[in-house]
Amino acid sequence: MTHVGAPLVELRQVTLTYPGPPPVPALRGTDLVVRHGEYLTVVGRSGSGKSTLLNILGLIDRPTAGAYLFEGVDVGTMRESLRTSLRARRIGLVFQAFHLLPHRTAEENVAIGLLYRGQPAHRRRQEAREALARVGLAHRAGATPPQLSGGERQRVAIARALVARPALLLCDEPTGNLDTTTAERILRLIAELHESGLAVVMITHDRGVAERGQRRILITDGVLTELTAEGIG
Ligand code: ADP
Ligand code: MG
Repeated sequence: MTHVGAPLVELRQVTLTYPGPPPVPALRGTDLVVRHGEYLTVVGRSGSGKSTLLNILGLIDRPTAGAYLFEGVDVGTMRESLRTSLRARRIGLVFQAFHLLPHRTAEENVAIGLLYRGQPAHRRRQEAREALARVGLAHRAGATPPQLSGGERQRVAIARALVARPALLLCDEPTGNLDTTTAERILRLIAELHESGLAVVMITHDRGVAERGQRRILITDGVLTELTAEGIG
């Protein structure tokens, strides 16, 4: 059993309408609370608003209406520099396409997650190696992304997301580019990270993958429906 704690993020009637023309209402009046240590999956068809939701939670986009509270603080209207710093310290992001720098080693790619701290390089490298060890890639620290398999690249991306010890891991279709066996290993790794106390929100269009979550949310045309609510309260 993992411990589910106080509210970590809270969306109150959050709407995001892309300006267009024509305007696209991608999220409509969304309420959502994610607590420390929870594991949510969000399932929905292509174009339903999954990435939009993740980009709001990840402080990449701002709601056009409604409030977003991160650990009780309204971040929807916060200055961009403060949002960037909060994201670097508290949120880890993992995408389908890995987004690694191709000419940098795994260790350097992971150490990028610590640049905001202004630590000496040797400290960053050491913490990067520790994060790589956590995802089972200590032995590949010196390899560049082209020398790594898809699954290994995603592990590097997960290590980069973890290295600053965030409270929230946001994953947008993290297994979308991987074969079934590799995808299974990545899903197990994400489950282990959750077991160790991280809150996880994972976006998927795969119902099987969605089953991994403690809580499952369906999103249809920008409207969220809770499918299950286990282990709350
Ligand atoms: P999903 O991730 O579920 O496939 P998205 O959140 O990416 O869906 O998109 C939700 C809706 O918003 C879709 O109709 C999409 O076409 C639209 N959309 C996404 N990004 C933009 C954008 N930058 N400008 C205009 N419309 C967008
Ligand atoms: Mg998407």
